[in-house]
Amino acid sequence: MEPGANTGPRLTPVQTQLIAAAFEEAAHDGAVVEPDQVERIAAGLLGGVLTDGMLDTIIDATDGKDGIDATQFDHIMKEVLVQTCAWGTLQTPTNGPVGITAILDQVKTRAKKRGFDFNLMVVGESGLGKTTLVDTLFRGKISSRSSEAGEGPKPLPQTTAIHNVTHGIEEDGIRVRLTVTDTPGFGDQVDNTLGCDAIVTYIKDQHDAYITMELSKQRAPRIPDSRVHALLYFIAPTSHGLKPLDIAFMKQVHTLVNVVPLIAKADALTLHERAAFKALIREDLEHHEIRTFPWTHHEDDEDDEDVKEAIRACLPFAVVGATEQQMAGTTMVRGRQTRWGFINVDDPEHCELPLLRDTLIRTHLLDLKDTTASVHYESYRESHLG
Ligand code: GDP
Ligand code: MG
Repeated sequence: MEPGANTGPRLTPVQTQLIAAAFEEAAHDGAVVEPDQVERIAAGLLGGVLTDGMLDTIIDATDGKDGIDATQFDHIMKEVLVQTCAWGTLQTPTNGPVGITAILDQVKTRAKKRGFDFNLMVVGESGLGKTTLVDTLFRGKISSRSSEAGEGPKPLPQTTAIHNVTHGIEEDGIRVRLTVTDTPGFGDQVDNTLGCDAIVTYIKDQHDAYITMELSKQRAPRIPDSRVHALLYFIAPTSHGLKPLDIAFMKQVHTLVNVVPLIAKADALTLHERAAFKALIREDLEHHEIRTFPWTHHEDDEDDEDVKEAIRACLPFAVVGATEQQMAGTTMVRGRQTRWGFINVDDPEHCELPLLRDTLIRTHLLDLKDTTASVHYESYRESHLG
């Protein structure tokens, strides 16, 4: 058989041999194969994955022919092979590393260049410590000022309005564009209460904006992502379980966004009360069929699932916020004096703020973004585009 020296992609000797062997096995008298057999052989070689493009290639090349000879077969297979990177039985054994691990470096380099958008929304009654917690999480006055250039003086924060503050934060050369969406006035017992609907509408509007940009003809190579990746929901430390407002709100948003439930101002509870309250809330959430972060994905393996199970068992995170440094013993730490002593907010033994930060940023930032895109946004898009 003529190897067809300069046409098509360059195949390894193993791949060439496999194509030749498949031809010989299927050919009558070692000369030709039936045109309508080519598709089956190609599918066998590629492990059963033929795209429409590959089928077109095969149909074009075999249409009207009586038999396909070895040279023609070799050409067709090469044309099909350019269209895939799923080699099936054509996979070439390698004698050493080929640099696939370098893909990780590529991902890092790309992430460094582009940075990440990460959009966080905080919801809960006034006074539960939302503003303080965001500032504690990101070690700055994140929630009160914006680092975006050229925006001029900020209007005074309104008491009831959804408002965004965007910050560029950078660590080890990785840039994150963090947008915090605050929802002051939620659930306040006054006339101008910020209702559930306003928040639901905001979340849907971000999905809609993304759909519009995806459908637009001259869409930017990278669509700016304003979709909410995580919604921190603050539960009052009452010991009495969820309130009707908590349930009503979470039921409205749990399929639109990743909900991360938190016990606010957990320093109001003893460790024993915290554990009991957590169990009570988990029961409530289950009873009302409210799904919270983290979601299980199809691609998750056992290890991923174990990690997610461990996180579920900790929810809702019992957090304490404090931005002021205090003297504790001989060192300055961020914390609060309580009835039962000093709580250092950065100590995982004292509260779950460090666990929340690790989960949001270090371990599950990409998972939150993936779930937003592939679960919440996708199902919203499907139900809206019909
Ligand atoms: P927001 O209305 O939800 O944004 O609440 P703020 O962050 O403005 O906090 C309201 C008040 O609660 C402030 O006086 C805070 O200092 C205080 N606070 C915030 N976080 C905590 C906490 O974790 N524990 C306690 N005990 N007080 C807190
Ligand atoms: Mg606030």
